[in-house]
Amino acid sequence: MRFFNTYSRQIEKFEPRDPARRIVGIYTCGPTVYSRAHIGNFRAYIFEDLLQRHLELRGYKVHRVMNITDVDDKTIRGAREASVPLTKFTAQFKEAFFEDVETLRIKRADEFPAATDQSYIDRMIEMIRILISRELAYQAEDKSVYFRINKFPDYGKLAHFDLTQLQSTGRVKHDEYDKEHIGDFALWKAWDEEDGEVKWDSPWGPGRPGWHIECSAMSTALLGDEIDIHCGGVDNIFPHHEAEIAQSEGVTGKKFVRYWLHCAHLLVDGQKMSKSLGNFYTVPDVMAKGYTGRELRYALLRVHYRVPLNFTWNGMNEARESLGRIDEWLARLQEITEKENVECPTPNAERPIQKTAFEDALDDDLNISAALGFLFESIRETNRAMDENKLDAGSAKAWLDWWKRINTVLDLQSESEAVVPPEATQLAQERDTARREKNWKRSDELRDRIFALGWEVRDTKDGQKLTRRAAK
Ligand SMILES: [Zn+2]
Repeated sequence: MRFFNTYSRQIEKFEPRDPARRIVGIYTCGPTVYSRAHIGNFRAYIFEDLLQRHLELRGYKVHRVMNITDVDDKTIRGAREASVPLTKFTAQFKEAFFEDVETLRIKRADEFPAATDQSYIDRMIEMIRILISRELAYQAEDKSVYFRINKFPDYGKLAHFDLTQLQSTGRVKHDEYDKEHIGDFALWKAWDEEDGEVKWDSPWGPGRPGWHIECSAMSTALLGDEIDIHCGGVDNIFPHHEAEIAQSEGVTGKKFVRYWLHCAHLLVDGQKMSKSLGNFYTVPDVMAKGYTGRELRYALLRVHYRVPLNFTWNGMNEARESLGRIDEWLARLQEITEKENVECPTPNAERPIQKTAFEDALDDDLNISAALGFLFESIRETNRAMDENKLDAGSAKAWLDWWKRINTVLDLQSESEAVVPPEATQLAQERDTARREKNWKRSDELRDRIFALGWEVRDTKDGQKLTRRAAK
C-alpha cells in the first residue's frame, strides 16, 4: 500500500509503526461546532472513511480518533450572539454533525474527544508548561502564551514554507504586537471580556487553549506520542498541522506522525463555496433537493482525494445514474442465483473475477477512480454475459460475493430492505404457506404479485427474504 505523504511530497510505501499487530492509529481533525458542516467538510470526512475502510479490508485494525473543536473564537462568538452558554450552543451542531455522518454512511471514529473536556484541558496545560520549560514557548505581555517558532528548526517543513517570507510580509494584527515573531502562535489565550464565562484556570492566569494545542493534546492522549496517519483538508496544513508538529514534537521529542494525508478542496460549479455566492450547501440542503445520502456519498467519494472535486447538480444526477446501474446489476445477478441450482456452482471459466483489481487500485494512494472504473467495466461485461444467457449461477454468486467484499469499502448498497410494505409481507406469508403445502404454482403466482409491488423474494436458509427490486 502506498500513500502520498504531504511531509515528503512523495508517494511512500505504507508501513505502520506496529506492523506485526497490524494496528493503525489515525487522527483526523474534526468539525468546529459553530455551524452546520458543509459538503466540503464532508468530502474530507468521506475520504477518511474510505481510508479507514480500505485499511480494514486489507486486514488492518484501525483505531481512529476525530476531535470535536467546541471552544474557539467562532464558537465563543456564536454563543455570545445567540445569548446561550457555550455548551448549549455547540451541542446542537454536534448533534447535526452526527446526523450528517449517519446520512452519508461514514463510519464513526472510535473516539470523538471534545476540547472542553477537563482531562484534555489539563493535558494541554501540562504540554504548554513543558514547552515553556524548554524555552519553546513564552508568556507575552498580553498574558497569552505563544509558541516560539524560531526555536523549532523544523517549523515550516510540512507546508514547505520559508519562514523568512513570513517575516517579510510585515502584516501584524494590532492584537499580536506582543509576540516575538509574527509566526508565533497562541498556545494559551488570556481571558478577555469577549470570552464571557468561557475560561479555565492555568498557571498563566485564566484563559482558554489555542486551537492547535487541542489537537496535539487529544491525539497523543488517545493514540500515543507517535501516530501512523494524520489526515485533514489541505487548508489544515498551515498553520494548524505545522503547529501540531511543533507542539507535539517539542514535548515528546519523538516523530509525531508517520504519514500526513490531505484532501483537496471541494468546488461548487467551479467556484469556491461561499455564502455570498449562494453556492454554500450542507447535507440537508442537498437532501432537500430530493437526493439521498447514498447519492451524495457516491458523488463525494468518486473523485481521487488529491484532486479538487467540482460539485454540480449534474454530477448528483450522474451519481444517481451510476447507483441505478449497480442496483440493477445486483438484482440481475440475484435473479440468476435464484433460478439455477446454486448448491453446485460451476463458475464460468472464461470470465474469472479479477478479485484484486479493485483493492489493488485503492492500494495505490486510494485510487478510487481506477477502482470504480474496474467495477463499472465488470458490470458492463457481466451484463453482456447475462444478456447472452452465458452467466451461470455459480459465477453470479461469485460476483455477488465480490460485491459484498468491495461494498465494505464503498457502502453503496441500496438500503430499502428495511421498509417492506405490509401488503408485500402479507403476500410473502401466503407464499410461505403455499410452499409448505408444496403448491408451487401458487407460490410462483405470489412471487409475481410481490414483484409487481416492486419487491423481490428470495428463499434462504433462514426463510424468505424481501429486497426491493431495482428500478428499470
Ligand atoms: Zn486538528
